[in-house]
Amino acid sequence: MSQNFYKNIIFAIFSLVAFSLIFSFLIEKSQKSQEISINQLAEKINQGEVTEIKVSGEVLKIGFKDKTQATSKKEAETSITETLKNFGVEPAALQKVSLSIEEQSGWQFWAGILIPTLIPVLIIGFIFWMMFRQARTGVNQAFNFGRSNIRLSTFSKEKIFFKDVAGLKEAKEELREVVDFLKNPKKFLDLGAKIPRGVLLVGLPGTGKTLLARAVAGESNVPFFHISASEFVEMFVGVGASRTRDAFMTAKKASPSILFIDEIDAVGRQRGAGLGGGNDEREQTLNQILVELDGFDRDTRVIVLAATNRPDILDPALLRPGRFDRRVILDLPDLNDREEILKIHSREKPLEKSVDLKKVAQRTPGFSGADLANLMNEGAILAARKNQKDILQGDLFEAIEKVILGPERRSRVISAKEKEITAYHESGHAIIAASLKNSDPVHKVTIISRGLAGGYTLKLPIEERRLRTKSQFLSELAVMMGGFVAEKFVFNDVSTGASNDLKEASELARRLVTKYGMSDSLGPITFGNTEEMVFLGREITTEKNYSEKTATQIDEEITKFIHHALEIAQKIVRTNKKALDTIAKTLLDKETLEQEDFYNLLKPFNIKPISA
Ligand code: ADP
Ligand code: MG
Ligand code: ZN
Repeated sequence: MSQNFYKNIIFAIFSLVAFSLIFSFLIEKSQKSQEISINQLAEKINQGEVTEIKVSGEVLKIGFKDKTQATSKKEAETSITETLKNFGVEPAALQKVSLSIEEQSGWQFWAGILIPTLIPVLIIGFIFWMMFRQARTGVNQAFNFGRSNIRLSTFSKEKIFFKDVAGLKEAKEELREVVDFLKNPKKFLDLGAKIPRGVLLVGLPGTGKTLLARAVAGESNVPFFHISASEFVEMFVGVGASRTRDAFMTAKKASPSILFIDEIDAVGRQRGAGLGGGNDEREQTLNQILVELDGFDRDTRVIVLAATNRPDILDPALLRPGRFDRRVILDLPDLNDREEILKIHSREKPLEKSVDLKKVAQRTPGFSGADLANLMNEGAILAARKNQKDILQGDLFEAIEKVILGPERRSRVISAKEKEITAYHESGHAIIAASLKNSDPVHKVTIISRGLAGGYTLKLPIEERRLRTKSQFLSELAVMMGGFVAEKFVFNDVSTGASNDLKEASELARRLVTKYGMSDSLGPITFGNTEEMVFLGREITTEKNYSEKTATQIDEEITKFIHHALEIAQKIVRTNKKALDTIAKTLLDKETLEQEDFYNLLKPFNIKPISA
């Protein structure tokens, strides 16, 4: 902005100079009609050269016999004849001159006074105006904040329909009703049915909320207005409310239409929780949304869709009947849905004939739709990098790991000793996972570094699970200890490579005690009240709602869990020293073991992993 600002000042000064040049030029020109003094005039009258004098205020316009003209000035207060007499004009000579008095009009009079004072004021005003205009375009947004920047997305270039959304059966059914209403409102109104007003889409990030909203727009074929709630909130108080008003007005004008407010939790948080006091910007915006939702007429055909991944923090007022009273839950996809989603995202990708997407789906529990779309894309990129014509199964498997852990880092240089430590560390994890029947089966062990991990043991659950049991957690803790234990056992030393495992194990153990009530001696009680900081949206404060004595007990219980896990791990490593050596050596040699190779290596030893 400052650059433009200076440019502008220079421009203003320049035009000022130009103005004054033009003025002085004009004035000079007008003076060309020769100005003479009163004595000269008197003299010329006496000589009989003057034929007429027009008096206008204090200006005298003089016409000569030879048709030339001149001007002169007299004092304003005295009359012309008086003045001329004083200058010695003979009455006889004066009689030959036709004297006319031009009445000075009011306009001329005032102009005579005002113009000289007004012009500088006007010029200064002009400069200010230019500066202001500049500031306005410079900080455009600052002055343009009342508008909602609402996007009218008809998605004409890429319309999305329900068939492009895999799984989510219940959600689609619920939304089909909305589509139906937008298409035939009469059917509903005739039966006196209340029209759905607001529909809240709830689901983890990447589960397809935005996608589904777009599909509703595509199916019902009405204008679709899309705004992210975070766009409501600006640095100026009051902007959010005015943008909200604007957004709803636009949607109403285009009715029947859909207004989609994405990430509504950005403004829809419970009121009164803000750190900015009871009257902050977010609250005003939320209030305005409530007002707008209530302000719809019964037959206004505008449906408000909103999406959030945090329904728990929404203000209850938003969820009241008549507002966002319909809630559509979008779950993480299950095995079949994952396969469907993979199919949708492989539509334009050439897959090699033998590729089985079901196998990919099996290896990706917990993946969201967005993760799966990303996976297919990574698979295609890997295939392209290897100059293949189509995508192989292996590319997709590799893409899974890339999505989970980050890219492989083959180039990372590690010493032979470090490599050996990593090999034993991962073998430790793998053997313990294979020995415990509650653990998830191992799919892959590798010492190739990926993301932040030096090496890793990939375990995947056999089936979808929503609930987890204490014995599963105990096994998991033991597997986490596996790397540490193996290092200590083999090298009689421990490395920093185990630090992340230990951190995760400690956190898990703490959760077992304080959140899940799984400690025997403390019993089924939860400890600590985790509060959220409103502006960061993350857990940062944990209210300690227990005594110091209990705190000590909690720490003791956590230690007990960890030590128990450590003992299990030590026992397995000690009794399977040979298996550990075999796997570590093979890893050093081959770097990566797939499940099959791994299980084959275990066969001679007395370890029988569960199959999957
Ligand atoms: P969010 O729930 O965070 O709004 P999106 O709707 O933006 O998630 O989903 C991100 C991407 O993930 C979509 O563009 C789509 O490619 C993919 N995706 C998510 N869920 C599905 C699904 N059920 N079917 C097909 N693709 C999906
Ligand atoms: Mg989204
Ligand atoms: Zn480890």
